[in-house]
Parts: sequence; structure tokens; C-alpha cells
Amino acid sequence: MKKWIFSLALVFSLSITDTSYQNMISHAHDVAPGMVSSEDSTYVPPSFVQAAHLSVKGMQIVGFDSNSREKLYRSFEVLEEVVNSEEFKDRVINFKNSKGERSFASNKGLSNEEIYQIFMEGRETLQQNTPGEMNFYLKLYNKSWSRVIGYTSGDTNVIHMNWKFFKNFAPHQVASNLAHEWTHKIGFDHRSAKEHDSAPYAIGYIIGEMAERIEKVRKLH
Ligand SMILES: [Zn+2]
Repeated sequence: MKKWIFSLALVFSLSITDTSYQNMISHAHDVAPGMVSSEDSTYVPPSFVQAAHLSVKGMQIVGFDSNSREKLYRSFEVLEEVVNSEEFKDRVINFKNSKGERSFASNKGLSNEEIYQIFMEGRETLQQNTPGEMNFYLKLYNKSWSRVIGYTSGDTNVIHMNWKFFKNFAPHQVASNLAHEWTHKIGFDHRSAKEHDSAPYAIGYIIGEMAERIEKVRKLH
């Protein structure tokens, strides 16, 4: 009986987190992260921070059919394009939180520049030996009654993604979701699903917005 209650509580807490993440996607434009203006004295030119390159790698992709795989790999491509851009560097370094400060919430005492550099190092907490890579271990599952978009935990590389949401997502939304989860994989967290200024949320939003723009241009050609 006790065990059953524990499992239920776990499912409940996962639902809470990811329900709000779901909201974040539908309200992405309302909460699009701000940036310190280049006129501002706290603005840091991107050239002040060392450049780096990240490759997006699918390490283990389980449960995806050929169409889903195609969408997933398109999201990998756009994710790779975004994270290696000068604009992404500028937006992370000069990210401005909702209080107007150039700082992420739950930042572990790290500056925006340091967070950018850790991100671009590509060393997942559980896989330190592959610098320069965003390594993805993904499992697609199907729970149509669930409001969970996806979940992961600190003791595994695997990110679980719910088909119920994945099937309707455009590649830029998948890229945003992957970026959020992967930011957890490099050790950043949020105190609640409302902490939109945290690195996982804010970086996820930045990537979603930039990827959407790239996808629009791509469709025109
Ligand atoms: Zn999260």
C-alpha cells in the first residue's frame, strides 16, 4: 500500500512539472526571454566570450517510426544550427530575467557567460568524456491520458518523450523541448515549473523561438 502511494505521488509530481512545461510551449511568446540592450552598461559583446562548437548526436533512439525519426532528426539539425549561432551566444550571455537583471534563476552562482560556456562544453553530468557533443538518449512512449510531455531524472541519460505531444509538435517545438531536458543533463534545474527564468526554461524558450524562425525561412525556399 505504501509503495503504491509513493508511485502515485511520483507520477503526480512529474505531471505538475510537465503540465506547466506544456503551458510554456503554448504561451512561448508571452514569456519570450528578454535581453540586455547593446546600449546598456551591463551588455557583454559576444566576442568577449570564447567561441565553441557543439554537435547534436542521437546516441540511442528508441520507439520512433520512420516519420517520427525524420522529424526528430530535423529538430536535431535546427537545434545544432541555433546553438552554434552568434545570436544564441548573444542571447544567452545577455539574457535578462523578469526583474531586469542579466542573470538566470537557479544559476548555482554562475554568470550568464559561465552558463553559456558550460552549455557549449557539452559535458553531461553522466557523460563527461564527450565534450563538444549534445548526446541524446531518447525513448518515445505513448500515454494518451497523461499531460506529461516528457521527463527525465538525474540518474539516467534517457529522456522519455510522450508520443501524444510529439506527434503534433513541429521540429522547432521538439528542439525547444530537447534543449530544456538537455540543460537538466548538464546540471541545471528549476525550483518549480513556474521558474521561467531558470536556465532549462529560458534556454528552451530562446532555442524554440530561434528554431521557429529558421523553420519558417526554410519553408519559403
Ligand atoms: Zn525541467
